[in-house]
Amino acid sequence: MNIKDKSFFTKQLLLWNVEANGRKMPWKGEKNPYRIWLSEIILQQTRVEQGWDYYQRFIRKYPTIKKLASADETEVFKLWEGLGYYRRCKFLIESAKYIAKNLNGNFPDQYESIIKLKGVGPYTAAAIASFAFNLPYAVVDGNVYRILSRYFGISIPIDSDDGIKYFAGFSAELLDKSWPGIYNQSIMDFGATVCKPVPLCLDCPLQKKCFAFKSNTIELYPVKKKKPVRKIRWFYYIIAEYDHHILIKKREQKDIWQNLHEMILHESKEELSIDQLNQSGVFKKITRHASIIDISESYQQHLTHQTIKGRFIHVKLSIRPRLNGYKLENRSAILKLAFPKYITGYFEDSRILF
Ligand code: SF4
Repeated sequence: MNIKDKSFFTKQLLLWNVEANGRKMPWKGEKNPYRIWLSEIILQQTRVEQGWDYYQRFIRKYPTIKKLASADETEVFKLWEGLGYYRRCKFLIESAKYIAKNLNGNFPDQYESIIKLKGVGPYTAAAIASFAFNLPYAVVDGNVYRILSRYFGISIPIDSDDGIKYFAGFSAELLDKSWPGIYNQSIMDFGATVCKPVPLCLDCPLQKKCFAFKSNTIELYPVKKKKPVRKIRWFYYIIAEYDHHILIKKREQKDIWQNLHEMILHESKEELSIDQLNQSGVFKKITRHASIIDISESYQQHLTHQTIKGRFIHVKLSIRPRLNGYKLENRSAILKLAFPKYITGYFEDSRILF
């Protein structure tokens, strides 16, 4: 493709942005790097409508980076509950503490220092650097892959090393170096409102020169490698209740849901019957002095690379239980803790806490 094609694309995008100003994402135009950082971290893997509510709650509770850095971590995780991908929350806290302690609460103003913050990748660093400091770094995310691959007919798989390198270099070429923040905002908004997964081609100002539109191949872009098979893990939780308290512990291990809370877990590689569960060590130990109150239906939650499936077994204990790492918590304490969606879904359905 020639320089003319590229500059036509950039120009049209900026023009579209001026005309579509009213359709901007709610927090765009923001210059405060803390707010941009927070919104971008919240928005990763999250729908805009859902993310916006969380963002507002966070800004109300932690209006500055120092407030976030000194916050009670359990409360921050509780506020994050339901957003998923909890490592983002952990990194948010760690980076806020780092900035408060080492940079006197001032957000770094260079791309190289921004990208060193935990949980900040090239996309988020480019967004913060360009929006807050007008630095010439191009954002590259799912929206950008989709628009560029369709418009220019690029067939390199976006999830291959070659693809990642190619799209990063190509995006940098297209970036308007005088207005990097506005260009980045335009391409992100354009991907969210026009060149969506199901695109609005008839309203698109790029239609005349769009390769995928002209060749009627929109559904072929962006190109991806073959999907890996999703792993299935079976999580059986025992809700061990004693005197209106439930045994709870924090997940400390390096695994999904780190820092969230859970009940007694028996994990299996395959589905288990109740008889098989009865034979498991932890189940045997805990149910020796217990009566089973309820066995839930099957639950499942899809994560990026795995699916969690299983059931919840609610038992009432006749003697006070002792189990390493677990604490007996009452209802009001449990309501303050953060749990994975898999467990909060069960809490809501069973109304066990109400
Ligand atoms: Fe995307 Fe359709 Fe516009 Fe092409 S014509 S850039 S596919 S919205």
